[in-house]
Amino acid sequence: MGCVFCRIIAGELPSRKVYEDEGFVAFHDIRPKAPVHVLVVPKEHVEKLSDYPDTEEGERKLGALFRTANRVAQLLGLQGYRVQVNVGEKGGQEVFHVHVHVMGGWG
Ligand code: 5GP
Ligand code: ZN
Repeated sequence: MGCVFCRIIAGELPSRKVYEDEGFVAFHDIRPKAPVHVLVVPKEHVEKLSDYPDTEEGERKLGALFRTANRVAQLLGLQGYRVQVNVGEKGGQEVFHVHVHVMGGWG
């Protein structure tokens, strides 16, 4: 399987990990666009945010993803931060394994 984030999750590729639990991992972006730029990634391979079904299960997974993003930001001591999700090629998504960008550390 060619998914770069699945390979990071499996430990086949290195990353600067800042958080891990049963369902998620978070690591520093290789090309940071902010002083602190971390990617929050579900361990389950889902290509893009819009693939989560419009169901209670989808809602639970979306909630867990953003809950984890908040948790990671708090762990990193960010006072304020920007959260970004690129969805689909036309939304600027380059890696097709769902992830939330958490960016902060300005000033
Ligand atoms: P997207 O545009 O898909 O939302 O963002 C993908 C992000 O993943 C980019 O910011 C890019 O720098 C980052 N990225 C791509 N490959 C790797 C990698 O192998 N390791 C890490 N840590 N980040 C990566
Ligand atoms: Zn994957």
